[in-house]
Amino acid sequence: QKFVYDFTEGNKDLKDLLGGKGANLAEMTNLGLPVPPGFTITTEACKVYLDSGDEPAELRDEVGAHLAALEKRMGKNLGQADDPLLVSVRSGAKFSMPGMMDTVLNIGLSDDSVVGLATQSGDERFAWDSYRRLIQMFGKTVLGVDGDLFEEALEAAKDAKGVTVDVDLDAADLKKLVKQFKKIVARDAGRDFPQDAREQMDLAIKAVFDSWNTDRAKLYRRQERIPGDLGTAVNVCSMVFGNLGPDSGTGVAFTRDPASGHQGVYGDYLQNAQGEDVVAGIRNTVPLAELESIDKNSYDQLMKIMETLETHYKDLCDIEFTIERGHLWMLQTRVGKRTAGAAFRIATQLVDQGLIDEAEALQRVNGAQLAQLMFPRFDDEATTVLLGRGIAASPGAAVGKAVFDSYTAVKWSRSGEKVILIRRETNPDDLDGMIAAEGILTSRGGKTSHAAVVARGMGKTCVCGAEEIEVDTKRRRLTVGDTVVEEGDLVSVDGSAGKVYLGEVPVVPSPVVEYFEGRMHAGADDADELVAAVHRIMAYADRVRRLRVRANADNAEDALRARRFGAQGIGLCRTEHMFLGERRTMVEKLILADTDAEREAALDALLPLQRADFIELFESMDGLPVTVRLLDPPLHEFLPDITELSVRVALAEARKDANENDLRLLQAVHKLHEQNPMLGLRGVRLGLVIPGLFAMQVRAIAEAAAHRRNAKGDPRAEIMIPLVGTVQELEIVREEADRVVAEVEASTGTSLKLTIGTMIELPRAALTAGQIAEAAQFFSFGTNDLTQTVWGFSRDDVEASFFTAYLEKGIFGVSPFETIDKDGVGSLVRSAVAAGRATRPDLKLGVCGEHGGDPESVHFFHEVGLDYVSCSPFRIPVARLEAGRAAA
Ligand code: ADP
Ligand code: MG
Ligand code: MG
Repeated sequence: QKFVYDFTEGNKDLKDLLGGKGANLAEMTNLGLPVPPGFTITTEACKVYLDSGDEPAELRDEVGAHLAALEKRMGKNLGQADDPLLVSVRSGAKFSMPGMMDTVLNIGLSDDSVVGLATQSGDERFAWDSYRRLIQMFGKTVLGVDGDLFEEALEAAKDAKGVTVDVDLDAADLKKLVKQFKKIVARDAGRDFPQDAREQMDLAIKAVFDSWNTDRAKLYRRQERIPGDLGTAVNVCSMVFGNLGPDSGTGVAFTRDPASGHQGVYGDYLQNAQGEDVVAGIRNTVPLAELESIDKNSYDQLMKIMETLETHYKDLCDIEFTIERGHLWMLQTRVGKRTAGAAFRIATQLVDQGLIDEAEALQRVNGAQLAQLMFPRFDDEATTVLLGRGIAASPGAAVGKAVFDSYTAVKWSRSGEKVILIRRETNPDDLDGMIAAEGILTSRGGKTSHAAVVARGMGKTCVCGAEEIEVDTKRRRLTVGDTVVEEGDLVSVDGSAGKVYLGEVPVVPSPVVEYFEGRMHAGADDADELVAAVHRIMAYADRVRRLRVRANADNAEDALRARRFGAQGIGLCRTEHMFLGERRTMVEKLILADTDAEREAALDALLPLQRADFIELFESMDGLPVTVRLLDPPLHEFLPDITELSVRVALAEARKDANENDLRLLQAVHKLHEQNPMLGLRGVRLGLVIPGLFAMQVRAIAEAAAHRRNAKGDPRAEIMIPLVGTVQELEIVREEADRVVAEVEASTGTSLKLTIGTMIELPRAALTAGQIAEAAQFFSFGTNDLTQTVWGFSRDDVEASFFTAYLEKGIFGVSPFETIDKDGVGSLVRSAVAAGRATRPDLKLGVCGEHGGDPESVHFFHEVGLDYVSCSPFRIPVARLEAGRAAA
């Protein structure tokens, strides 16, 4: 087995073996670009090391042989005293991972060879600068020395000299610093800085291997679901020097603007600097365009190389380069990150340039990016004061008055104020306040903190971990430096950028939403460039997708919006919303009914109201299917809260004027009270124990459909029975429904072609799907309830309680309510699809529930062969796009 590849031996498709960095260094080498020679130790070697605790026996010799070849080629040996070859040791896994080891530069320098380097380069300062960098990086990343110790010593040296930047330290200063650094290593690491070059290199290689298993790296992998056994590659690359004076430097560049996608000159350059200096902000960089006047030759060459890379990778690339005394070297490239808007623009630009086709363009964007483009944004934030930055935990733009506790948030929002809830961190007690607030801001905690998880779940704007902000809940204010924000002051929270502003920043609607709403057209002028790109990509997606996309909508307004967003019907109309508001008293009457006559009267009163709702709905979705779910929630949800009512009745009794109705209500509330309503009297069970309820709903649907038909409309109603666990339940409901529909057809003289189906949302339903399909014309997977019942946890409770801990421990990378749990819930869906279709080949299959608008889940539903997904109106474009991507 071969464990080491020269840069000339690899290519970009060997990322598994050579890691991303190594594969691309090889690719550039083979393209004839100026890459400093070197070699890559494979991830296989790392795996052996991690499994056995030791490097493979052959590795030392193989590395030796490649090093010897490198030395021969460079005409000098690693660490050679009079003219040392120096190398960098760079980690590089298949996926770039925070928490893994940093790169060590200048390996090969020692007390002896630093003198040789000074002589050879004719620059003593440079040699000692390189040596102190080596000891610093090696000490910190290989020997585990606290990096601050070096930073402090460096600061002290600058202070002593009265200078502010490292380039003002001369050779003598740096010599002194090297001495101090070596002392720091000896003291903190308990060993001397190794003087032997090969030992330096070997220790660094091992340290890269070991860094695969740091706690941070492990946690990151668990959360991102990167397999733990991939291992990392190690790149050994001969050094080139950007710190050899003003005709040297180092920089980063993009082949196009990662913000707009436009082609041009984007990047930063720093003269007389090495490695990370350019991004570490130790001195001010200059825009890349200025390199043209600093070093025209290198600049021109770089521009050519960027063009080569773009055509070769057919995508935006980012680049690290170094110029050594007027000679340009390429040190890294990869397909670069970009903003959501740029992703759409670049994809269509590349199609126009003939570099990629439409199917490929679809793979270059994703639903998360589209969703991001659909949030409103702040306009003109420059005119207000930036209070601080934190983690962009949940996107959106929210403005409101600062409040520092949940109680105030609720109180103020009840009186019509918009509020931003500001806490050091949130916990389950803050839930009411979070619901009441426009946005949430915390000064502690990361992407998996309570605030972040809950806010994302609620779709609420949130910035968390804004550390510069001091939150003082006792005094109800926050401070940032000298700025104080008191309770009631306006603040603006940008959850997409992770920024917080003082005062009110004007909010502008998303142009992409304006476009979907039909208020903006995909014209070609500059402002609409993004919209034009989105328009084209959506057209590609619609052309190729197999999944149809429907909306979850309960009223005509939502339905019309959903249609504008591209919905091909309604996949879930919840009827419980039609029982709220003023109709609540009618529902109370129904629940309290003692006699058949009372009950029938209550139902008769509800019938025309429901019918009118459905007429509107069918009209708004004319020609498209509308799935109406019969009443699902437990009845107590329509009754007053048990505690409030008890108190009211008790007070009234004390005054001796208890009212008869309240007493009966209280009795009913007690009777209906359940320990576990989620698993109680709800769904089809209601239909079976409350005579006439489902019949009334079916009649309302059928009469509405008949009404629309007589008005020359094209209603396509589908009646859906919730929470079925066994085919017998469905059969009983169907018999009654069929009878009611037949009656309506007969009395109105229409043929309604209604279909009747069921939700599959209990494990038993999924497990007996073959039987259930005998009575159902369609299945709609209710993956919210199915997830609750398969996992045995209640969504309403767990997201706020132990999910944060689960996410932090990496038990799941994302909540199973957000992305379908393919292995568990998903496998039930898969087998139910097969069993259902075996019974009834033309069974129509869909999914309703949050997962219908989740990108990863949409791909899963495509793969298991559903006919459609249904999601909230706002998620429809995302579902269309992902359905297209899944099919392309
Ligand atoms: P990262 O993965 O953090 O980007 P790199 O391995 O790319 O780490 O290296 C960190 C910095 O050191 C980068 O700026 C890179 O360009 C620079 N660097 C790495 N190897 C060399 C080398 N052989 N010569 C000069 N600079 C190098
Ligand atoms: Mg790099
Ligand atoms: Mg349900």
